Amino acid sequence: MSVDNSKLNPLLIDAELPPFAVLQPQHVEPALSELLASNRRAIEALLDELQQPSWQTLVLPLEELEDRLEKAWAPVGHLNAVTNTPEWRQAYEAVLPKLTEYGTELGQNRRLFEAYEKLAQSAEYQTLDEARRKVIDNALRDFRLSGVALEGAAKQRYGELRQRLAELSTRFSNNVLDATQGWTKHIADDAAGQQLLRGIPDMALQAYRQAAQTRNLEGYVLTLDAPAYMPAIQYAEDRELRKELYAAYTTRASEQGPQAGRWDNSPLMQEILALRHELALLLGFANYAELSLATKMAKSTTAVVNFLEDLAQRSSALAETEYAELKAFAASDLGIADLQAWDVPYASEKLRQARYALSQEELRPYFPAHKVIDGLFAVVEKLFDVQFVVDRTVATWHADVQVFNLQRAGQVIARCYLDLYARSGKRGGAWMDNCRSRRRQRNGELQLPVAFLICNFTPPSATEPSLLTHAEVTTLFHEFGHGLHHMLTRIDTAPVAGINGVAWDAVELPSQFMENWCWELAAIPLISGHYQTGATLPPELLDKMLAAKNFQAGMIMLRQLEFSLFDFKLHRDYDAAQPRPIQAVLDEVRTQVAVYAPPAFNRFQHSFSHIFAGGYAAGYYSYKWAEVLSADAFSLFEEKGIFDRETGQHFLHEILERGGAREPMMLFEAFRGRQPQVDALLRHNGIGVQAA
Ligand code: ZN
Repeated sequence: MSVDNSKLNPLLIDAELPPFAVLQPQHVEPALSELLASNRRAIEALLDELQQPSWQTLVLPLEELEDRLEKAWAPVGHLNAVTNTPEWRQAYEAVLPKLTEYGTELGQNRRLFEAYEKLAQSAEYQTLDEARRKVIDNALRDFRLSGVALEGAAKQRYGELRQRLAELSTRFSNNVLDATQGWTKHIADDAAGQQLLRGIPDMALQAYRQAAQTRNLEGYVLTLDAPAYMPAIQYAEDRELRKELYAAYTTRASEQGPQAGRWDNSPLMQEILALRHELALLLGFANYAELSLATKMAKSTTAVVNFLEDLAQRSSALAETEYAELKAFAASDLGIADLQAWDVPYASEKLRQARYALSQEELRPYFPAHKVIDGLFAVVEKLFDVQFVVDRTVATWHADVQVFNLQRAGQVIARCYLDLYARSGKRGGAWMDNCRSRRRQRNGELQLPVAFLICNFTPPSATEPSLLTHAEVTTLFHEFGHGLHHMLTRIDTAPVAGINGVAWDAVELPSQFMENWCWELAAIPLISGHYQTGATLPPELLDKMLAAKNFQAGMIMLRQLEFSLFDFKLHRDYDAAQPRPIQAVLDEVRTQVAVYAPPAFNRFQHSFSHIFAGGYAAGYYSYKWAEVLSADAFSLFEEKGIFDRETGQHFLHEILERGGAREPMMLFEAFRGRQPQVDALLRHNGIGVQAA
């Protein structure tokens, strides 16, 4: 018996938003197989009929096909991340290789490549607007990066490498998730248990109780999810407990620690590096770092390493001083004579409190999630003249998720789903993802951009609303920066609309830029309000926060530079004949930039998903690179006023609205009136000012 998929399968119905109300894992494989097959047929037919390729006959129809596929796949990838049941994982993994294969095939389609080349050389190309030309230029670049010029065995090998790398990334990521969820510590609700948990804030303890309840246990359950781990490592007075947690957390998915070998990413990491290097060589690059830069704003591997090492050098004196202070404080005030890695967050928090009488936990009551979100929307409205309006009519994947329409002058211009709270089966961290891209359809109608905004904040309890740390407030602003970039675009061509087509090392500009408002006196009344009294965060607390803001700024800067240099050198210096152990590369970078050596069992790299499972391979430096841009962009608001309407509009028009339609350096210069400078970043971090 055959079924007509189009009548039954919600993924095949063209709708404005994904069919979350009815979408089931069993819809995935049939729908995506159908779409892939019909896309293949359509592309072949298009090429068969094509005389002189034009925007209308080549690019637009292809964009349409890609968009249809993206609209079906986006909710699947999304649900795999936020409701990771075995069924969704299986559905996702069953289709992922087929999509990878299709992408590889498309990228290697010689006829398609030649059609684009012909279009690029045509008279029409010269008449196209900037965005459309950029779409064609990017397509040609990506064709070349996809191995279109390869022949025979090389071509086949290329496809195998891509396929295998996609599998390895997924397995890496699943190992991290499983290792994170695979470890728990049950603590009884008795005198010994209380003793063990002393120092940990009530809110975290409540969460541990809830974690126990959901497992039908008495007492408390500690897990390795960030909202559970962080308060324990920062506040637990029991040194052995901290050590136990630290060991479990920093050895996830490795051959070390309490779960040693159970979800070990070691062989996957070695294979990923080897295959990436092979891939780069196939495409004519000397190493994977060079391949990575082909699509980035930075111009050379040397420029990147120099940039990072220069920042490290400028920050190291301050970091050394900070670490010496921490050691002295731990010895004199905490009785810790031999400061260890599992003491650093704890001692740092104690030093911060001693120096600034301020803890992240103390700030939580002033930042109930709903107040922060209202404040965030108010800030966005002041800057960019748009409103967020809740829409309760839209189906989502969980009762906690809210949908907002973004409106300008009463007209809906974009939408977003907001999923704030941590829960079992939801991937950790915070992110923005593309659900729908903005594009002008062939019938002239506009498809509005839609974003997924995902956080992992502590959920509300029976008695208290969700209360955020200031760091979480900043995270929210950060992700909304990505969201605004995606939603406020005015580009009508999907491949360069919003965050699409934006160079990786420039993509963090709007996100890190938005974080600045979390630190401004004028914004505090908008984003804070005590959950019991409604009182705004007192100015003296903000003063302390500002004083505390650059606490250990040198150490933090060096840690980020350590990750960046490790990632970049790992890929740039890979030697296929004699691959160095990954640990050796990390150790060498640490010798160069770290202020203290973590214990030998530490396997941070085994859960470094950004570079082994995400898109940041040989690109982690992008955060710092973009931070220079975002700090420098914000410095214009410091000059003109942080709610200065004109500057806000200027940023909106020159940067946010333009998506990936123009080179990021040109966008930046159009906004700032000059090339980027590192001064604002160093000033914001309190680095280099002490000498004065
Ligand atoms: Zn980001």
